[in-house]
Amino acid sequence: MITTDVVVVGAGPCGLFQVFELGLLGLKAEVVDSISRPGGQCAELYPDKPIYDIPAIQVCTGEELTNNLLTQIEPFHCGMHLGEEVAAVKRQEDGTFYVRTGAGTEFSAKAVVIAGGVGSFQPRPLRVTDAEQYENKSLHYRVRDAALFHGEDIAILGGGDSALDWALELAGKAGRVTLVHRRDEFRAAPASVSMMRSLVADGKMGLIEGGKVTAIAGANGRMTSLTVQVRDAEAVEVPASHALVFFGLAPKLGPIADWGLDINRKTINVDTERFETSEPGIYAVGDINFYPGKKKLILCGFHEAALAAFAIKQRLEPDKKVHVQYTTTSPIMHKRLGVPD
Ligand code: FAD
Repeated sequence: MITTDVVVVGAGPCGLFQVFELGLLGLKAEVVDSISRPGGQCAELYPDKPIYDIPAIQVCTGEELTNNLLTQIEPFHCGMHLGEEVAAVKRQEDGTFYVRTGAGTEFSAKAVVIAGGVGSFQPRPLRVTDAEQYENKSLHYRVRDAALFHGEDIAILGGGDSALDWALELAGKAGRVTLVHRRDEFRAAPASVSMMRSLVADGKMGLIEGGKVTAIAGANGRMTSLTVQVRDAEAVEVPASHALVFFGLAPKLGPIADWGLDINRKTINVDTERFETSEPGIYAVGDINFYPGKKKLILCGFHEAALAAFAIKQRLEPDKKVHVQYTTTSPIMHKRLGVPD
């Protein structure tokens, strides 16, 4: 069990900045995100796109914003638990919160901040009959152990970076690798696409462009081949004992809906003084919250995180007044930030 002041659910820009605001006030945080890298939508949906409305930063990409936020929170040494979805949040009798992830990590926290954005990102599924019966046996949405595929015939579905990275990684290690993509253009990095095309030209990898998987053949969760429809042509059978599906990620509100909070159409109602939900001690910042006038913008989430941090400090120290201090001049904040005297 990890004991901390605050568990922050979500490592998007607002969850990361929440760690900073809590740290300035001397509060420790643990951050949990269901995807394997921090940055939320900025990292997952538009890492290379320019953002122009972060105050005092004329332009930065989603990836640069994430990296800057990660650097900014370094002094606070927060725990970062990636690839784990927060499944349960329960109030304990002593007023603390028990938080558990799907992977079984447990926390005891004095407060919880939900910075879950548009929800927890989940892999987009392959929609063919009986696909579920093959899931995690021979149909995979993430790679846990690449050695499982060595010497096996595999099909990789998708045209983005994950699909191309795994196709290149497994070519030569797996038996036969066949890449199946619905379109002719690939979203992956151009260097990966040209490397893939040269392997295909050398006969070291199969490629089907404009192909859609319409059926899986096999039994007891073990696939033997995929049927791929290529536009108006005849369907082809691709022998495969495993298929890796990388159709991207889509957000789902997920378990947050079951935590007994006042939910308003996939968002959580909060007040605008503390950004507290209907459950005292549980706060919500960023895209996930709702209040009159709410705008789903990063800079609005940053403001919300600052006020939520003050409210949490006040909740944890009810007898003390929480003063605003300037980072420019406050010796205690310099100490927390590791700024030399
Ligand atoms: P998110 O970025 O959505 O992050 C939430 C995180 O919480 C996710 O990583 C998710 O996996 C995680 N999560 C959710 N539930 C759980 C759970 N139960 N357990 C664990 N983790 C969980 N905004 C601007 O201000 N300026 C722009 O120029 C701009 N451009 C944009 C362009 C595009 C294409 C898009 C899609 C959005 C843009 N936005 C822009 C909006 C901006 O990205 C969002 O406002 C911002 O990402 C919200 O941050 P967040 O931290 O609240 O949530």
